[in-house]
Amino acid sequence: MDVTLQLTRYPGLDDRITILRAADEVDAVFVRTKRFNVLVDTLATPALCRQALDLLAGQMAGRPLLVVNSHMDWDHFWGNAALDRQVPIIAHGKAIDRLSDPAAREILAEKQQEARFDAVELIAPTITFDGESMVVHGGDLTLKLIHTPGHTPDHIAVWIPEIRTCLAVDTVEHPIPEVWSSDPADLSALIASLNRIRDLKADYVVLAHGQTAAPAVVDANLHYFATLRDRVDGLTNTERNDAGLADRDGLRLQDLVTVPRDMSAETRAFYERCHQSNIAAMLAARNAGIDPFREPAND
Ligand SMILES: [Zn+2]
Repeated sequence: MDVTLQLTRYPGLDDRITILRAADEVDAVFVRTKRFNVLVDTLATPALCRQALDLLAGQMAGRPLLVVNSHMDWDHFWGNAALDRQVPIIAHGKAIDRLSDPAAREILAEKQQEARFDAVELIAPTITFDGESMVVHGGDLTLKLIHTPGHTPDHIAVWIPEIRTCLAVDTVEHPIPEVWSSDPADLSALIASLNRIRDLKADYVVLAHGQTAAPAVVDANLHYFATLRDRVDGLTNTERNDAGLADRDGLRLQDLVTVPRDMSAETRAFYERCHQSNIAAMLAARNAGIDPFREPAND
């Protein structure tokens, strides 16, 4: 698969923000501030990242480049190898744990059956923070990097208060986000992260998948999980043990959200798998007597 990169914008969104769209694989975001150029995510290959930097060259104006890795999922950071080694790469401390997990190399080996991933090297972030947030003071724009775990343990979103814009990356997703594991703590964390983003009352919520900046997606994601909880609660014990829950009337993906009509079969299959993971996590939570909307996230 050959992926081409395009620069794009959302109507009304501040013109210091540029969306880097790698077809329907992923969106990265470039933020131009007075002091720094900030690239949030480096796309899925060094070639795509290089293309991004070339396309952005006219906007760089000699300011230093800072890179943020929102999380260590391949589509968001495998472009890191295209960066000069002195470019700071900021991520959450938990990103380092993920990179040192054997799974990081296993996924790379598996993906490298496709030639376009040949040049990928796992390049680690160079500046990390633990705890809830860190702030990049750009002079005109402030970038607050907020730990928003749940989709992955290391996930961060970016809040830019001056222009009421949140780069939500994979915490908010259209049609649905995916929880990290079936551990109820991860589901509680994801719902807490969604609530945290909703409470920002952003005018723009920029996603990495779904090609939208509509804040309504945050509410739709929360509504999906609330409905899922209520429907799981309505099941008998025998029904809860049914292996085909995701095919059951009322619990199918299309029963819980509107699936875009033009979605490709491959993308649809992907979100069906996300939905199955979410059902498994909700079942595990409810079987353990946990309401993931109430339990504080276990960080
Ligand atoms: Zn992603």
